[in-house]
Amino acid sequence: MSGGDMLDFEIRPNSAPVSAVERAALLANPGFGQVFTDHMVTIRYADGKGWYDPRVEARAPIPMDPASAVLHYAQEIFEGLKAYRTADGSVTMFRPEANAARFVESARRMAMPELPAELFVESLHRLVEIDREWIPEAADASLYLRPFMFASEVFLGVRPAKEYLYCVIASPAGAYFAGGVKPVTVWVSPDYTRAAPGGTGAAKCGGNYAASLSAQAEAIEADCDQVVFLDAVERRYVEELGGMNVFFVYDDGTVVTPPLNGTILPGITRDALLSLATAAGHQVVERPISFAEWQADAESGRLREVFACGTAAVITPIGRVRFPGGEFVIGGGEAGRSTTALRERLVAIQRGEAPDPQGWVRR
Ligand code: PMP
Repeated sequence: MSGGDMLDFEIRPNSAPVSAVERAALLANPGFGQVFTDHMVTIRYADGKGWYDPRVEARAPIPMDPASAVLHYAQEIFEGLKAYRTADGSVTMFRPEANAARFVESARRMAMPELPAELFVESLHRLVEIDREWIPEAADASLYLRPFMFASEVFLGVRPAKEYLYCVIASPAGAYFAGGVKPVTVWVSPDYTRAAPGGTGAAKCGGNYAASLSAQAEAIEADCDQVVFLDAVERRYVEELGGMNVFFVYDDGTVVTPPLNGTILPGITRDALLSLATAAGHQVVERPISFAEWQADAESGRLREVFACGTAAVITPIGRVRFPGGEFVIGGGEAGRSTTALRERLVAIQRGEAPDPQGWVRR
């Protein structure tokens, strides 16, 4: 069947879960992406059969044939979103339907089957429900959810696979950058680009990240936290960071972010901030912004604040920009007022602590 939303999950609780004492120790300082919960979701797909066998089961290694297509041609996509524990003890998720829709878009681009949005969202609720005790309580902590899907067919031919495995795993997370909300330094890569027109830049596929790692390694070598990619055609316009979108705040209150032109990831945080910045009285503009303009406006002081945004890091101020042969500072290297205000507003909504006029939060 293809109407996967009709499927019933089989629940097989982990018979040897982590003890409450050990879990508390892990949750005290989870870092990012290192600690995992007791369970995972799996759903299988086969051509002609559709989605089948949805399960919540003990998190465990996935047996894999060495000829599984994903290992050779990287037919793989993923998502990332967070569940939060609220002050009243309930659990919120931020715009899971938006992740479901992006997962469908990524699947289309990678010639993979589309997981029905309702099944995607239900899979998240199922995992959060069974692993609820793993949601950390600290103010800037959350349970990071990682849905992903890959070509599991055992076949070396280069064509879209006929079998796939969809999974969701969950990982308690503290603050993404070790320094907390302190401004980060970014590296503008002179040589590497991330995505070309007609390529896969707007899809959340593993291959995009594999291709970004040399640039990220260069950034780390230059003592920077993250890499900024320029467009692949002119090497002139700012696109995004390795795992975040980017916003610019000018002295007249205008907020600028690069447009969705097919080469950057349509961030859900980006989309939310476009509305929140408008609601906060900013003039909001989606337009290309060149690296030369970024530098000139930072140096003249017209450009007051720049920040990166995404699920993992929420909103992180960019204080310093480094490139081969130079660097410049934004807003004296300090976190700006608008950045801080937008961050507080977004976090309060995500955690169910503020009104949610757009209806973004699920409980
Ligand atoms: N760009 C890239 C390349 C990313 O990996 C992410 C993280 N998903 C983002 C932007 C931000 O997207 P979101 O706000 O949906 O997390």
